[in-house]
Amino acid sequence: MTGPADPIDAVCAAMRAESRVAVAIHESPDADAVGAAAGMLDLFARLGVEAALHVDPGVDVPYAAEFLPAGRVVVGPPPPGATLYALDCGSLDRLALTLGRRDGRVVDIDHHHDNTRFGDVTWVDGEASSTSEMVCRLSARLGLEVGPRAATALYAGISFDTGHFQHESTSAETFGWAARLVSLGAEPTRVYRLLYERRSLAGLRLWARAIEHTRPAGGGRALLAMLTAADFAAAGATDDDSEGIVDALRGVPGVEVAALARPREDGRVRVSLRSEGFDVSAVAGLKGGGGHRQAAGFTATGSVEEVIQWLSTVLDERLSTVSSS
Ligand code: 5GP
Ligand code: MN
Repeated sequence: MTGPADPIDAVCAAMRAESRVAVAIHESPDADAVGAAAGMLDLFARLGVEAALHVDPGVDVPYAAEFLPAGRVVVGPPPPGATLYALDCGSLDRLALTLGRRDGRVVDIDHHHDNTRFGDVTWVDGEASSTSEMVCRLSARLGLEVGPRAATALYAGISFDTGHFQHESTSAETFGWAARLVSLGAEPTRVYRLLYERRSLAGLRLWARAIEHTRPAGGGRALLAMLTAADFAAAGATDDDSEGIVDALRGVPGVEVAALARPREDGRVRVSLRSEGFDVSAVAGLKGGGGHRQAAGFTATGSVEEVIQWLSTVLDERLSTVSSS
């Protein structure tokens, strides 16, 4: 491909040349994916480009009502010929959108270090705190400022992926963008309430069950939690209620790796991994998953018990070969 050497400039050039685009995000979208999409939709509107977020039927887009412009979430394929802007998504097969025969170009904007670089234009920054932070950089490079709603969404994306400005990916630049977004109308208190304060009694009951079903591995350097379909039923909880459990386990002193396994609707098992120092994206990669070094995930076949047993064996091995950090 010819064009600007700096990938952010290549993305800017592509955006300026568009007339109609589709935006797509990863499956089980989170606040970073939705925040980045909200930011991109705002920028495209300012560039006079027709744009919408496209998802498959049945995809739940969290915070859509709060962050995304009305009528800009389309259930169904991108329009013919439209460039697809894939955000916060490590590979094409993780998109919350099934692509048939493609006739448009793909622009890949992401901060997962293991991104497969699937775009005709690819801008991957594995050091960026979030895709939302990358969209902030894009807006500055384009010389555009987003409106208050997109600013709130981008702030939420940064907040979510940094564990509310706590993970190591939080840099001075991250705080700089957060400050800039607040000056553009982002509402930190509202974001905190939306992202972190909502916890139902059913969710708390689910947490209790997960913590009850937690066992050590790797000589105590790992904690593995699991939830079965029976746990979800007994607690009256949904998968959203499991958000945060694995992070809480990671916070236990001396714990370098935490995992949570729970059933998916399709009968497979979904695993979230968190770490301090240790590369969990490599472990997720063994089962076809991936993510960041300190936050990764995968989906596996088998029962939750079997997947936990597998993880336990792998972590026993791997944690005995890496020295404690
Ligand atoms: P979570 O545990 O919050 O679902 O995911 C943590 C991180 O791992 C996120 O950045 C997410 O994108 C990534 N991740 C989770 N599951 C998968 C997966 O199956 N494949 C890949 N490539 N990344 C994943
Ligand atoms: Mn992200």
